[in-house]
Amino acid sequence: MSVFTHIDFDNHELVVFGHDSASGLRAIIAIHDSTLGPALGGCRMWSYATDEEALRDVLRLSRGMTYKSALARLPLGGGKAVIIGDPRRDKSEALFQAMGDFVDSLGGRYITAADSGTGVAEMRIMAQRTRHVAGAGQREALDGSLRDGDPSPSTAYGVFVGIRAAVRHHLGRDDLTGLRVAIQGVGQVGFNLARLLKDAGAELWVTDIVEANVRRAVEQLGARAVDQLEIFGLDVDVFAPCALGAVINRHTLEVLRAPIVAGAANNQLASPELAEELQRRGCLYAPDYAINAGGIIDVFYERSGGSPAELKAHIEGIEATLEEIFRRSASEGATTTAIADRLARERLGR
Ligand code: NAD
Repeated sequence: MSVFTHIDFDNHELVVFGHDSASGLRAIIAIHDSTLGPALGGCRMWSYATDEEALRDVLRLSRGMTYKSALARLPLGGGKAVIIGDPRRDKSEALFQAMGDFVDSLGGRYITAADSGTGVAEMRIMAQRTRHVAGAGQREALDGSLRDGDPSPSTAYGVFVGIRAAVRHHLGRDDLTGLRVAIQGVGQVGFNLARLLKDAGAELWVTDIVEANVRRAVEQLGARAVDQLEIFGLDVDVFAPCALGAVINRHTLEVLRAPIVAGAANNQLASPELAEELQRRGCLYAPDYAINAGGIIDVFYERSGGSPAELKAHIEGIEATLEEIFRRSASEGATTTAIADRLARERLGR
């Protein structure tokens, strides 16, 4: 397995492999860039088929965090951690204590947080071993109530305001009443997003590989359940990917009918050139790392002690950032991802 010549290696500052025989931990932490501050990014647990697959994910995700924090105007660098293992089968207290030690060994250069396959419980275990972990304590929510450190409601709110920007730009409407939205994955972010959209009057279609998650959306929000493949071809206004990455690929593109793709998942495009294909087909793509920055903004405010009102205002900045991306994309003819990258580099001072 190569690292320095890996296709996704982008002058990362640090890539470290952690192993603990007693707990069975196998993990990788990557710090992409710390120009703007310490590297912050989630800790993902996934049953990667190969080490190569895990390395690819951590290299891509950590780079994405550099751009995401810069674009979100946060004084943070980009980093990410991946644990190789099945989150439904391989979790243990010892595993996350060992992961906490691994994070701590970097002395604060990398700060970890929850991601797919991990949550508040795992952050609390890691917090026994390191203070460089976010989302382990209780805090005030956007509505003033007390909640745990899960940033997904903030991520969902950022995606919601991002969808609002996309709908205004592409469909020329401000009101979301009757907007038809298909959500792939109604987990932590997807379900919160579904609730916000429902409250705004949208009609929802959902799918998930976990039946209980689908049922919750159907019973609590009146969403319509569809099967996993059907979600791509629905005649809706917005397709919101909120599951895992690479959902926009050659196959799904052929059936995709929604004029807007805007959702929380990281690395939604299986390859970068698909951004041009989406543009050619008249589909407005909200770059994933621009629209899903609510979580990282939340984590930053938790650590810096900002108020819920400041947090909410910062998340709402996602709407303005996306408006700028869409406007520049339309006037310059470049894809939304190219414009987002350019804007992030401008904010990184490059
Ligand atoms: P989650 O694990 O709670 O939810 C993901 C959901 O997608 C689960 O319910 C899962 O069963 C479902 N799913 C997985 N594969 C699927 C498939 N093929 N078809 C349909 N459903 C499928 O994770 P989350 O925290 O809600 O995050 C969702 C996405 O958003 C991830 O890509 C994550 O990296 C990204 N993201 C999350 C946050 C956050 O604050 N949690 C922040 C930024 C980005």
